Amino acid sequence: MSRTLGERLGSKVVVPQDELYEEKRKVWNGAINRYPNAIVLCQSEADVVAAVQYANEQAMSIAIKGGGHHVAGTGVCDDGLMIDLSEMRKVKVDEKRKVAIVQGGATLGDVDKETQKYGLATPTGTVSETGIAGLALGGGLGYLRGKYGLTCDNLVGARVVTANGIVRHVSADEHADLFWAIRGGGGNFGVVTSFEFQLHEVGPEVLGIDVMYDYKDAKRIFTKAQQFLNDAPDEVSFNLTAMELPPAPFLPEFLHHKKVVAVSGMYAGDPKEGEEIVQPIREWAVPIVDQTGVMSYVELQSKLDVLVENNIPVYGTSLYFSELNEETVDVLMEKLDHAPVPTVLSQLWALHGQMNRVPESETPFSVRDASFVLLLDAMAMPGMDEDVIEQWIHSIYTDLLPYSHRNASYLNGIGTIESATKATYAANYDRLVGIKKKYDPKNLFRHNHNVNPND
Ligand SMILES: Cc1cc2nc3c(=O)[nH]c(=O)nc-3n(C[C@H](O)[C@H](O)[C@H](O)COP(=O)(O)OP(=O)(O)OC[C@H]3O[C@@H](n4cnc5c(N)ncnc54)[C@H](O)[C@@H]3O)c2cc1C
Repeated sequence: MSRTLGERLGSKVVVPQDELYEEKRKVWNGAINRYPNAIVLCQSEADVVAAVQYANEQAMSIAIKGGGHHVAGTGVCDDGLMIDLSEMRKVKVDEKRKVAIVQGGATLGDVDKETQKYGLATPTGTVSETGIAGLALGGGLGYLRGKYGLTCDNLVGARVVTANGIVRHVSADEHADLFWAIRGGGGNFGVVTSFEFQLHEVGPEVLGIDVMYDYKDAKRIFTKAQQFLNDAPDEVSFNLTAMELPPAPFLPEFLHHKKVVAVSGMYAGDPKEGEEIVQPIREWAVPIVDQTGVMSYVELQSKLDVLVENNIPVYGTSLYFSELNEETVDVLMEKLDHAPVPTVLSQLWALHGQMNRVPESETPFSVRDASFVLLLDAMAMPGMDEDVIEQWIHSIYTDLLPYSHRNASYLNGIGTIESATKATYAANYDRLVGIKKKYDPKNLFRHNHNVNPND
């Protein structure tokens, strides 16, 4: 008879009767409330193997928690087994190969801090507490996207525990199909216990773009942003965030409740040279605040952390656009002007350069020809009606869908809508299904933007 999970892994297994259970089943999004049969707090690859083997024997589905930040809360599931990697956060730099070896539970901050000790970096994202695993497996958009591409474009190897409990090292030369699948195919193919990322010389000082405009100038800024992007050098990557600023102590009082469009970004080259190049961004209208300037890369990479809270219920959606034209902007602004709550973060990320030069079939992340992606989140603070917020978020998606770039979404920023998953993977979906059939025919890894082996 097979041993129980507790016999195999001892105190690393947390079950509903344990005190730790309530804390450990939580993820970043406070709207998510799921109850797995057991949670394994993995400390090593051997723990992951034992957990996956157990789930396979018992035909239990598996949810994988890296940093726990996916808005869909897919790091936790009802009934199945939750594999929690948050105690596996080591980062090691191989200076000679210019590669970072990163455990599956590390955060972006863990990666940036360690790689910067060597004056190196790999493209990550913009909030340091986010998990590198989910981010990299679903793409990975950050301020280095124009110069060095997405996080998944910089993946050169990984160790993956597949559904049968076998550990495979994958790269362009080993299990090339699996290596292809994890560069955008999410957590469908196994548990990644460690990643190997290509590093580049970045920093330690960079030019951070940080300009805040009055929301009344939003339309003008969106137009100027598209014009600027058309000729932007790879070194400049920027995001536009429309929001009502919170009455937070880290902001001066005159900004409390002010509706703004914030432009945040980076010049990924010599900061001195960058000043002239980013200057037009600072003149799209009259800024309310302009803190553009030289700062350390690590500081820039955690600058937005103050805006992010944990365990608040959040509803999010995403769509790509070929261009930010007047029609699209009008629909978006009409929706924003009628938002049911003020706690909305509407981000438009400008896409160009190296991330858009990768051929569509080279990775499952196939949206390589859009110019902006919308990432829109609404937070439900105490007393706000979550159903109303959820419906409004859904209406943003449906109202903007006709204006979108081939109905595709950034899967790292949207709930698990089957049609969005298929529209986004597009021509790559069938190839993903073939690889899924080979490595996870029982679909144990199904709590994600699922690639169904039976499709
Ligand atoms: C505050 C905030 C800021 C963000 N900023 C950015 C940004 O700047 N750029 C950007 O591109 N995205 C950003 N995102 C989106 C982010 O990419 C996704 O939320 C991503 O899923 C986070 O990864 P995670 O490991 O924290 O998530 P988790 O919820 O832990 O994981 C998400 C999914 O990834 C899979 N997974 C996780 N770990 C593993 C593993 N080790 N092996 C196999 N599969 C695994 C699982 O399917 C899991 O369901 C942000 C999200 C938030 C909430």
